Amino acid sequence: MFYTSTRDRSIKVSSSQAIAHGISAEGGLFVPEEIPQISLDDIKRIAGLDYIGRAKEILSLYLTDFTADEIDTCVKGAYGEGKFSSEKIAPLHKLEKGTDILELWKGPTCAFKDMALQLLPHLLTVASSKSAPDKQIVILVATSGDTGKAALEGFKDVKNTKILVFYPNDGVSPMQKLQMTTQEGNNVGVCAIEGNFDDAQSGVKAIFTDKEVAKKLDENGMMFSSANSINWGRLVPQVVYYVSAYCDMVNSGEIELGEKMNVVVPTGNFGNILAAYYAKEMGVPVNKLICASNANNVLTDFLKTGTYNRKRDFYTTISPSMDILISSNLERLLFLLSGMDDGLTADWMAQLSKNGCYKVNDEVFAKLNSMFEAGCCDDDGTKACIAKTFGDYKYLCDTHTAVAVDVYNKYKAETGDATPTVIASTANPFKFSKAVLDAVRPGISEGMDEFDMVLGLHVETGEDCPPQLANLKGKTPRFTGCCKKEDMEQVVFDMLK
Ligand SMILES: *Cc1c(COP(=O)(O)O)cnc(C)c1O
Repeated sequence: MFYTSTRDRSIKVSSSQAIAHGISAEGGLFVPEEIPQISLDDIKRIAGLDYIGRAKEILSLYLTDFTADEIDTCVKGAYGEGKFSSEKIAPLHKLEKGTDILELWKGPTCAFKDMALQLLPHLLTVASSKSAPDKQIVILVATSGDTGKAALEGFKDVKNTKILVFYPNDGVSPMQKLQMTTQEGNNVGVCAIEGNFDDAQSGVKAIFTDKEVAKKLDENGMMFSSANSINWGRLVPQVVYYVSAYCDMVNSGEIELGEKMNVVVPTGNFGNILAAYYAKEMGVPVNKLICASNANNVLTDFLKTGTYNRKRDFYTTISPSMDILISSNLERLLFLLSGMDDGLTADWMAQLSKNGCYKVNDEVFAKLNSMFEAGCCDDDGTKACIAKTFGDYKYLCDTHTAVAVDVYNKYKAETGDATPTVIASTANPFKFSKAVLDAVRPGISEGMDEFDMVLGLHVETGEDCPPQLANLKGKTPRFTGCCKKEDMEQVVFDMLK
């Protein structure tokens, strides 16, 4: 199987080249030329395997220039013994009959980014040994909070790699910040920027695609790659857990093999929900893909009208990992839905960067409409939903997950759709203690520091804070720098010397 670029279909690369390079030279994103298919018989067989077995099956369909041994080593390195706090890796938690929460935060950094970023360094090491054997890989990351820590944790002390993370100084939670600034490892760097996530992401993209910078790196035996969800190596591990969730729904008797499920995803950069779309196109019986946004509801408007318009106010919310107005992975969906029309996709993306908006054609809009539903929820709605979900089910969800639960509740009330549903849960609630505590006991967080709130949340709910978060208490930050967005390139060179 080969991969091509969303902006130039004449490009044809192997999966290892797509992963090693991260982004195509002309700025497009790599996508597989065709989507591999699985039958209901395949699903029945895969449902009998554990998560590692399921991951090997799905990955081998996409990473066709990896050997079975290489995939085995990568998958075991990522999800093997002791890496995740649940042996199911991505377990389902049943809220009520027909509604299950897919818990994607059992990894080392307590957010769903671990699902991909525990695997990506392994994939990248194999990929670069095939396609660029002598190069040191430099990973640049723009993060809205969770990617940064998950990438640092995944890449720390990985041979032949360096990683540098940029995060918006006022755009991440205190726990997220502390997780990143205290990161250990000899090949890591972290820098705040004055700006929001979109600034960080555009800055990183600009450095990536700058030919002069690439040349300088090349002369020094280095090359850039990306750990953001523009890298195919981030997307493909996420397809696995949607197949796995379907298998678990069948195994638990929530659905009959072949019956459809809805999938609800709290969405930012559109990576997670795109993975669900791939699972659907592979043959997993999916009814609706429900895209949930916070007050930054650019995707809600887009999916309802066909016009993408980023010219709007940017809000800093209590679900910061979704505070995004430019959802990079949408480009992949547009390319697929337009019948792999690279010209059209490139044109829409050019309009987005030039005018801040574009409108898709009727054909693409009709396809979007048939598969996707969308809704949004502001901070008050998010807190109310955390309180209600805890009250009704004794289930404590984080702010991002609550956005999805709220959007799903509204969708169900409006449509009466009784299709069994899986709601993706993307972070442990203790990563966002203040907002979650305010939701379950309004006012109580007044004057408390971050770890008082962790304790308060434990006392209020009886839930335990994961040790990797609790242990951050009292740690001194190692990385305290903050730069202007114009200076990001210099920060990169300083780190690489
Ligand atoms: C990254 C993130 C999201 C958004 O996921 P996308 O793939 O960017 O749409 C949602 N919730 C949490 C907790 C995240 O870390």
